[in-house]
Amino acid sequence: MTKLVVIGSSSIDLVVSAHKRPEKGETILGESFKTVPGGKGANQAVAASRLGAEVYMVGCVGDDEFGKMILDNFKKNGVRTDYVEPVTHAETGTAHITLAEGDNSIIVVEGANKYVTPEYIQKAMDVISSADMVLIQQEIPEATVDYVAEFCGEKGIPLLLNPAPARPVSQAVIERAAYITPNETEAGLLFAGENASDAMKKYHNKVFITEGSKGVRFHDGEKEVLVPSYKVEAVDTTGAGDTFNAAFAVALSEGRSLRESIQFANRAASLSVTKFGAQGGMPTRAEVEGSL
Ligand code: ATP
Repeated sequence: MTKLVVIGSSSIDLVVSAHKRPEKGETILGESFKTVPGGKGANQAVAASRLGAEVYMVGCVGDDEFGKMILDNFKKNGVRTDYVEPVTHAETGTAHITLAEGDNSIIVVEGANKYVTPEYIQKAMDVISSADMVLIQQEIPEATVDYVAEFCGEKGIPLLLNPAPARPVSQAVIERAAYITPNETEAGLLFAGENASDAMKKYHNKVFITEGSKGVRFHDGEKEVLVPSYKVEAVDTTGAGDTFNAAFAVALSEGRSLRESIQFANRAASLSVTKFGAQGGMPTRAEVEGSL
């Protein structure tokens, strides 16, 4: 069993469906309300655990009911929570999502995720040092991403950076990460002023651009390659990227080839979009292997 450490955000998504969005100052009746666990870090940790890795989450929640829900959800999914600490000086991170007129509007309140700082993660350095791979995203402070990239670079621990949500990334982090997985929007910001094909060529076998239902593009050192996605009936694409990243990390850390790892991750991500919710559709190992 490979050991993955996920350093990132955990939050609770508060999802309201309504026939329209309220205007400024208006009150309307909604149709339904759901409370579901989310946050890119937590989603990737849960996905990797369902796919059979030993997963340690490094994150932060508030000392409140939502924090308890997140910890319970990690335990239910077999994610180790030794390094997820409830703090009293901040509330658990939340995402306030309105689904209306076929699209979503989201307000994110970072809460405790702001406190996943370089100082905070010191207690997890031993487990990070012993990881087969470390996964990190950008819903935690930039200083933490910089610090982890430097540490992993020095120790030779493979780091997978999922640069989501989009924000500029330092050149040092790009150099030190072993794998970087932007979607098309994030790639635009990551390689601002540079053509995506040139960037993939320069960082061949390192930068993998996910293109939704089209698949994943990268440069293999000789040519640019598109590994196509699997065709499915998409119900909810939330969390597709998180499932892809988790599955890619699991396959790579098991020593599979790049091509095979992308196929495994594309398969897992395609299964995840066939059900509602970010974590709702995340498949188990048996479900992915049964469908490859
Ligand atoms: P999200 O933010 O919605 O989680 P993302 O923008 O980070 O996703 P995408 O590029 O949209 O990432 O999707 C990631 C991967 O998920 C794709 O490379 C593909 O493997 C899979 N995927 C996404 N949408 C679909 C779809 N409609 N059908 C099949 N596979 C899909």
